[in-house]
Amino acid sequence: MPLPFRIRVAIPVHLYDCFDYTLSAEQYQQAEMGARVAVPFGARHCIGIIVEKLAADEPLDPRFELKAIHALLDQHSLLDANHLKLLHWAALYYHFPLGEVLPVAFPTLLRQGKPYDVLAKIWVLTDPQADVAFKNAHRQQEAYKILKLKPHGTPQHILNASGIENKTLEALAKKGIAHAEYQHQEIKNEPVQLAQLPLKANTDQSKAIQSILKAQQQFQAFLLDGITGSGKTEVYLQVMYEVLKKGKQVLVLVPEIGLTPQTIHRFQSRFHGHTVLLHSGLSDAQRLQAWQQAQTGHASIILGTRSAIFTPLPNLGLIILDEEHDLSFKQQEGFRYHTREVALYRAHLQHCPIILGSATPSMESYALVEQGKLTHLQLNQRAGHAVLPQMHIIDLKIAQKQHGLSQQLIQQIRQRLEKKQQVLIFLNRRGYAPVLICEQCAWLANCPRCDAHFTLHTKPYQHLHCHHCGLVQRLPERCPACNHESLKPIGMGTVKIEEALQELFPEYPVLRVDRDSTSRVGSWQKIYDQIQQNQPLILLGTQMLAKGHHFPYVSLVALLDIDAGLLSVDFRATERTAQLIIQVAGRAGRGEHKGDVLIQTLRPEHPLFHMLLEKDYRYFAQHTLKERKLAQFPPYRYTMLVRSQTRNATDNQAFLQQIANQLRNAAGNEIEIWGPIPAPMERKAGRHQAHLLLLATDRTRLHMHVRAWWAEVIQQQPKNIRVSIDVDPQELN
Ligand code: ADP
Ligand code: ZN
Ligand code: ZN
Repeated sequence: MPLPFRIRVAIPVHLYDCFDYTLSAEQYQQAEMGARVAVPFGARHCIGIIVEKLAADEPLDPRFELKAIHALLDQHSLLDANHLKLLHWAALYYHFPLGEVLPVAFPTLLRQGKPYDVLAKIWVLTDPQADVAFKNAHRQQEAYKILKLKPHGTPQHILNASGIENKTLEALAKKGIAHAEYQHQEIKNEPVQLAQLPLKANTDQSKAIQSILKAQQQFQAFLLDGITGSGKTEVYLQVMYEVLKKGKQVLVLVPEIGLTPQTIHRFQSRFHGHTVLLHSGLSDAQRLQAWQQAQTGHASIILGTRSAIFTPLPNLGLIILDEEHDLSFKQQEGFRYHTREVALYRAHLQHCPIILGSATPSMESYALVEQGKLTHLQLNQRAGHAVLPQMHIIDLKIAQKQHGLSQQLIQQIRQRLEKKQQVLIFLNRRGYAPVLICEQCAWLANCPRCDAHFTLHTKPYQHLHCHHCGLVQRLPERCPACNHESLKPIGMGTVKIEEALQELFPEYPVLRVDRDSTSRVGSWQKIYDQIQQNQPLILLGTQMLAKGHHFPYVSLVALLDIDAGLLSVDFRATERTAQLIIQVAGRAGRGEHKGDVLIQTLRPEHPLFHMLLEKDYRYFAQHTLKERKLAQFPPYRYTMLVRSQTRNATDNQAFLQQIANQLRNAAGNEIEIWGPIPAPMERKAGRHQAHLLLLATDRTRLHMHVRAWWAEVIQQQPKNIRVSIDVDPQELN
């Protein structure tokens, strides 16, 4: 008996297999790899992606019971062959199920199985003047009433969002009361035009632009290593123009879109009407629309955050990854890809140049320069007339302090404000205070679910908040241990410093910028607009202020407490601290006033300060790379981190020990295994966490061993243990 027609489908479930389904001969003819298909899966109905059309003589897989598909959803593949290749590679490289990797290429509505043209489908009443009476058909009547509101038609997705089901609309269509029409999206598809003239590039910028342009139509990767304010964006814009003129698409990836409205505006205003934005703030319909413009090749500039790297782009001609060192390019849960890694592979697949830009490049990128895989381009001067700010250290051990601020800093702030300039104060800790302690018995307010202190918050009302698991508790009036009214906050958060600054400088505005103060839509934009006015004010905030902003009136920057970064056990901690210092400092002196940077610390003797103050970030990087090489740490070895979580700590250790032994037996000395070791925060959200760190010099061999081993691990994994693997982990927590 001949075997039935079959396709292999990737399904969005956490299983490493793909599954085979039968379909009719006619469906088989139509089916394309990369198209969506609706299938039964257990008792569920799933939307999968076709990954293979099986040949007639392909034997049946005895493990699975063959079922028939429900429906083919797309007449044509939505992903081209290269894109499928990219996604297959990502699943392999990150040791993550293909069924969970493929959906990242699609917007939500398509993942849910909505028709590709859902946005274009409009329902209209056949006779808008007529009055139709419904007997008992309440749903149809409901739909009719909504349709009656808009004589020119209502998009199907709006009707769906209003609770009208498609079968109700079909019923109206059957009765001839309403019908569907297709409206085609208006997409601008004209040759690109400059809406704004380019700036005259300086020597460094011209050199960079020229060398990138030589690489058009072929793969070449560049590291645009330019100090803060050196005009990297202008380099991007001028290179983009040449690529766009040839009718190619440009993908621009940035860490966070909402945070840097100014940068986004510069891209949009240079090439008016050609940019689509892809970020988490879009509605499902907006996202689908932007995605379709990209996927059909109509949009020429695609500006997005991390996941935009997986957008299908038929005419890709250039990838730009701005602020390439930024940690938000690494997905920290689920499918833990690194945008930089995927982007490099993608540019290689699609034969186009890629630019990684930063004032503080990652050690990974510098290592690629050493290996000759990245072309190093440097911008050594600030653009225009601005110069780099001067950095100074304040020794907190000997300084006179008021509210945690040294007298020297307070004086400096006053001087700047009196000269009508702006001041930026950086403190990477939101809330009022990081610790609440009993002065009688030393009881500490700790989260019951984590190995961590509660943070004291005073806004909008007093409460304790765990920043690790999100738990919220009321503030006790008395110490729960000794019953004295002796609870005292220790240390400072942004809210406490805000109060102190307001008290010291009552006549000036103090603007606090952290996740709490900017959670409402539009609040960051309001603060942002105020900073762009030439008026004295104090800007106080967390990392959000470190991100590539151009604040022309800021002339003094102060970093209050960065010592935690100098003490951390993570080998990347000094790299991150150096990047933070340089990035925050880089906000000073970008306009006409010369900038100064004050760093308050208890460890003024730390070598990091000497390197950054007396030399520069590149010197620090050279030094760090030497250290990493000696210690055989990344980027000189490749690493993977296996994390496991359970409610019971002993199970965790035992399981990790068992799988570590298996890997040791298989890989011998090709992989060094550290652990099992408890995670730096052993208990988090009520679960115990332990780690295995794998290190190897040969990347290919590492992946090969892990591939075979991980398949076994998944099989053996007990129900009460959750394991995950993180390839090229950026944080060892
Ligand atoms: P970066 O991204 O390297 O920090 P930006 O691209 O934000 O720097 O540039 C800093 C400032 O310098 C911007 O205001 C920009 O308009 C200006 N600028 C850039 N290039 C030039 C140039 N060639 N001539 C004059 N000003 C420039
Ligand atoms: Zn907690
Ligand atoms: Zn007490």
